[in-house]
Amino acid sequence: MKNIKDYDLEELKNELKQIGEKPFRAEQIFKWLYQDKVKEFDEMTNLSLQLREKLKENYTMCNYKILKKQKSKDGTIKYLFDVLDGNAIETVLMSYHHGYSLCVSSQIGCKMGCKFCASTGINFIRNLTSGEIVEQILAVEQDENIRISNIVFMGIGEPLDNYDNVVNAIRIINNQKGLSIGARHISISTSGLVPKIYKLAEENIQCTLSISLHASNNEKRSSMMPVNNRYPIEELMQACKDYIKKTNRRISFEYALAKDNNDNLDDAKELIKLLKGMLCHVNLIPINKIENGQFDKSSNENIMKFRDFLNDHGIVATIRRELGSDIDAACGQLRRKNLKQ
Ligand code: SAH
Repeated sequence: MKNIKDYDLEELKNELKQIGEKPFRAEQIFKWLYQDKVKEFDEMTNLSLQLREKLKENYTMCNYKILKKQKSKDGTIKYLFDVLDGNAIETVLMSYHHGYSLCVSSQIGCKMGCKFCASTGINFIRNLTSGEIVEQILAVEQDENIRISNIVFMGIGEPLDNYDNVVNAIRIINNQKGLSIGARHISISTSGLVPKIYKLAEENIQCTLSISLHASNNEKRSSMMPVNNRYPIEELMQACKDYIKKTNRRISFEYALAKDNNDNLDDAKELIKLLKGMLCHVNLIPINKIENGQFDKSSNENIMKFRDFLNDHGIVATIRRELGSDIDAACGQLRRKNLKQ
């Protein structure tokens, strides 16, 4: 059966047309789904009984079951959701002074194979649909009785490898009749799928693009991120420059600092050369150790030195707060699960 949450407003109007209904019904349904957050078609009381029956016959609502909920010492909450096909994904809720941020997953598993990340490896299962992405937000808002203000596509998966569903989910999240979260409060993080960066620049969505850079030369980057063999740094940087030119939006570069690997001042110098003059910001992430991982976290002293060196040379850099590492909810620690194993 089709998931009613897979459609953005325009698509839903078309769907309804096909079952002989007027387009304004789509707006009513959208409001029930994303503003009132109902879980059953029967709760949509301004629709006729007949229409509700028709909807039940044709669509599911894909309400997630919470399999597990863990709370970190710092207040971060990690959810394990049953996506209803024998697989489970993780979603992380973070609380900041400016509101709640939700880190959503975009795929069940990941194909990218980054050496420092627990979400990846040989176990890619499938893309999440738009509705399955959006459902993570609905389920958490309902469970905690809160309104989420920021969405980051930094959970399991490579969002630009599931391009259409991610962009469609953003349209639902962003729509004023949908979840109504401003595009500027939505970030997509990518390991660097160059053709998709060009495509995203054409979408006219004002979301923030984050690039997982992590190294400033090809040899080092390829040793950490196999995707660099396909799209080397020169091509990636050109795509970023074009993206900035086209959208006038600042790019955020993520750089996870690993001890004795990419954290000394020569690395910083190379990074400065690469980013000089670009409309950007560097987000330094103390690398989180993962099971069987070959990388260790840099010392705090080194991390601060690295940041200061970048700032002193005109590159704005901040250190990302480490949230939820005690419950394996921090960057790179999320994993998909198979419920049948
Ligand atoms: N696939 C996307 C989004 C998911 S990861 C991407 O690669 O951008 C979100 C961020 O966490 C990325 O910058 C990723 O490189 C980083 N990350 C992954 N593993 C990490 C680890 N062990 N420690 C710190 N950051 C990590």
